[in-house]
Amino acid sequence: MNDPLNPSPATPRPVIRVVHGQAATDGAGVELSRVIGQPELNMLDPFLLLDAFASETPDDYLAGFPDHPHRGFETVTYLLAGRMRHKDNAGHGGVIEAGGMQWMTAGRGIVHSEMPEQENGLLKGFQLWINLPAVRKMDPPAYQEHIAREIPEERRSESQLRVLAGSTSRGSRGAIIQPLTDPLYLDVRIDADGRFDEPLPATHNAFVYVIEGVIHAPGEDAEVQLKQDELGILGQGSNAQLHAVGGTARVLLIAGRPIGEPVARGGPFVMNTQAEIDQAHRDYLEGRM
Ligand code: MN
Repeated sequence: MNDPLNPSPATPRPVIRVVHGQAATDGAGVELSRVIGQPELNMLDPFLLLDAFASETPDDYLAGFPDHPHRGFETVTYLLAGRMRHKDNAGHGGVIEAGGMQWMTAGRGIVHSEMPEQENGLLKGFQLWINLPAVRKMDPPAYQEHIAREIPEERRSESQLRVLAGSTSRGSRGAIIQPLTDPLYLDVRIDADGRFDEPLPATHNAFVYVIEGVIHAPGEDAEVQLKQDELGILGQGSNAQLHAVGGTARVLLIAGRPIGEPVARGGPFVMNTQAEIDQAHRDYLEGRM
């Protein structure tokens, strides 16, 4: 029963699995850590891929991601440091700068490049791929871009968060609201030894990824420790409950409603069937993307 005078108590969503980022190379030779979309974690519906890149060594990133296509899902690029220039075959382009994000709905297809707009210094950020349901995979492509100051921030007593997508329990409305998978995308800094507690929709798959510091979170039995470049999958419960241990910590807390459809992957294309992947390859090769 849902009695507003006697709400059910918050129960933690325990960390049920810890996934380690795996060193990978993509694009024309960019060194990155692949956290989702690798053997340890193929996907966490609706999330298909999470790449983390962080390097001050130009050789790790200068080659960038020259022209390549996408179809059938969304890519979210979030930069913490550095600059990335993107350009596509429809004439759209721009530069993503530190603190900013680009939310690209590839839909039926785009061909674009993503190249570092710097020759030295730190390049640091993430790319997350979010699936689209079958009925929306062939929508026209679209971009939503937000510079750093357009991303809402929320200060709490022991934490500070940036709300890239979705809404928080304190009423912050994210830069992006996407009803198809209803994603929540938070960049959370937790003060030294501070705690962060946030309800998440029970329907949503959710994970926490540690950018910096050490996090403790309830597990199924004992507490679980998560370190830098580790992802914790959250199980059933009402709230994400995170505790920064031994200093400040910074994490991504991401949740989304699973789509629950078959997934066929072919590199930069994610569809429902192999025939649709084959069609995507033909459309790309024959200039229909
Ligand atoms: Mn791309």
